[in-house]
Amino acid sequence: MTRCAPFTGSFTQQEPIGEDGIAAAIAVLRSGRLHRYNTRSTETSEASKLESAFARYMGLSYCLACASGGYALHIALCAAGVQPGDAVLTNAFTLAPVPGAIVNAGASPVYVEITPALTIDLADLERKLDTTGARFLLLSHMRGHMADMDAVIHLLADYDVTLIEDCAHTMGARWNGRPSGSFGLVSCFSTQTYKHINSGEGGLLVTNDAELMARATLMSGSYMLYNRHGTPPEEGVFAAARLTTPNFSGRMDNLRASILVPQLTQLDANVDRWNARYALIDRTLRITPMIELPSRPVAERYVGSSIQFRVPTLTDDEAASFVEACSTLGVEIKWFGRDEPVGFTSTYKSWLYTPPATLPQTDRVLSRLFDMRIPLTFSLSDCIQIGEIILFVLSEIRNSKGSH
Ligand SMILES: *Cc1c(COP(=O)(O)O)cnc(C)c1O
Repeated sequence: MTRCAPFTGSFTQQEPIGEDGIAAAIAVLRSGRLHRYNTRSTETSEASKLESAFARYMGLSYCLACASGGYALHIALCAAGVQPGDAVLTNAFTLAPVPGAIVNAGASPVYVEITPALTIDLADLERKLDTTGARFLLLSHMRGHMADMDAVIHLLADYDVTLIEDCAHTMGARWNGRPSGSFGLVSCFSTQTYKHINSGEGGLLVTNDAELMARATLMSGSYMLYNRHGTPPEEGVFAAARLTTPNFSGRMDNLRASILVPQLTQLDANVDRWNARYALIDRTLRITPMIELPSRPVAERYVGSSIQFRVPTLTDDEAASFVEACSTLGVEIKWFGRDEPVGFTSTYKSWLYTPPATLPQTDRVLSRLFDMRIPLTFSLSDCIQIGEIILFVLSEIRNSKGSH
């Protein structure tokens, strides 16, 4: 066996919180006022500052900071009017908090096939719009892959179906220049450590709909202090909902908000840094015809915080040994085709709390799909080395195929 130097970096190591974030967090700790409504009369809470800053970044009227991305999705569905028993369409390639949010709203996910580009299959979407009568699509831009948003909007308009976007992997991304998260009636982001801004846990809900925003704010647990928010709708908008909306208690606190505000100013620069890393890995992997990388439409300004690729010629055993051999050389790759979910790779088949679905096309795509994180702590030369290790392991597998 030929040799290859192992990679020694960590796939789960994010960059440290910047000194400006640390200073802001220490100021919150010194104040003792960590709860978002615990403000002095002249003070704007850090949670409210974050809401104003993110609404401005998105070019939308309203932002609500909450406890997690999955929580934001739950109240987005409820505030958008999803009723218990409703069917909610969602693309089958997504993360478990997405079906979880649908179930939490009392509704039932109906999974839609994905294409080899890892985005929702519009033909299957149209079929399911026809057959299910669903009134909502929760579109998850899983791993940052965006469907043709113009086509999605057009199709949904024909059926009068409401779009809700899950932008956990598309914060900072755009479609034809328009921010991901500005297409839906309401959209949700996550600030969990592995997303694009990091507060450990956290979620952001955005919308232009004042009444929806009022309901979501009440649901998040605003008591009657909603006028202290960063981007509150006018007082009168709350009148219809203030006594009839349940409090699902999932606020963001000032400590987490304080470290997010300065990160937002770095987001666009970080998108460029992610994409420089993504481009190098992508270019290295394209050297072998064994690997298929999703081609990314010119309309898509993506955020390359992770990379996905398919190796269609591998058998199941070879796919498992590929992951194993990469891991031995320090390269952490996840495989969506495993029978059993490992770490973050669970698929719709392991969500037994939702109705069973048959999705042969999605199964085919996921069966040979590999996934790798690209933390910003990797240097550009790290990225080339990682790509070369993957090429090396695949060539070893190919050579051993040839030898028997
Ligand atoms: C992380 C993530 C979420 C939910 O985020 P949490 O903040 O962890 O609840 C939703 N959808 C996708 C695709 C994600 O990756």
